[in-house]
Amino acid sequence: MRKPLIAGNWKMHKTLTEAVELGRSLKEELGDSTACDVVVCPPFPYLQAVAQSLLGSSIALGAQDMHWEEEGAFTGAVAPAMILTSGGSYVILGHSERRQYFGESDESVNRKLITALRLGLAPIVCVGEHLEERQAGRVEEIVLGQVRGALAGLKAADVARVTLAYEPIWAIGTGETATAAQAQEVHALIRAALCRNYGDEVALQLRILYGGSVKSENAAELFAQPNIDGGLIGGASLDAVSFIAIIRAAS
Ligand code: PEP
Repeated sequence: MRKPLIAGNWKMHKTLTEAVELGRSLKEELGDSTACDVVVCPPFPYLQAVAQSLLGSSIALGAQDMHWEEEGAFTGAVAPAMILTSGGSYVILGHSERRQYFGESDESVNRKLITALRLGLAPIVCVGEHLEERQAGRVEEIVLGQVRGALAGLKAADVARVTLAYEPIWAIGTGETATAAQAQEVHALIRAALCRNYGDEVALQLRILYGGSVKSENAAELFAQPNIDGGLIGGASLDAVSFIAIIRAAS
């Protein structure tokens, strides 16, 4: 059985004090509970401080992006080892906001993914379609194309170490959630494609999260779907009470 994973993407929110406070609140509430895997992804400059606030809990820390090179002249970029040495063990790759505002492509996601796996960071790779693409009946083509692009050249054993997050772009930060049936349909398509390309064992092991306006009110129904293995949570992860309610729905 796949253990559910709930990941909180704090995006570019919170002061340092607020970030540490949120980390502390989550630790107080969740302690070392292991019913589901939990990771929070604060902005880069807060990684170490939030890592400290989580010490002694089972909550993992992640970053929201990384560079594909290990070091070099890349002003403003963050290397994977910097995440690891700041206490991070996960990294979000290919979030739609990175694709939209920072020129992220399937090719750059693939390069980052290869580096993350090599250096031991657990990647959460985001895929998802625009509303117009859904309306044009292109969900399968777009989403499976992004999955294929991200995983290009990886061996099956490495694919099994990846977490995918299906995030329909029209549902991110809009309050508009995909219905449980819509999400399950796409998750099942992704799992079937993984099965074809990498075999049953890998496909059944790999976690596929859903993301897009997940809240405490809709979390349980989404997580009850057979191919939904947890969630990537934006807005609702910024508040301890709502994030914990979502974690409980998955546990
Ligand atoms: C996200 O940014 O990954 C996300 C799912 O955001 P929200 O939960 O706010 O829609």
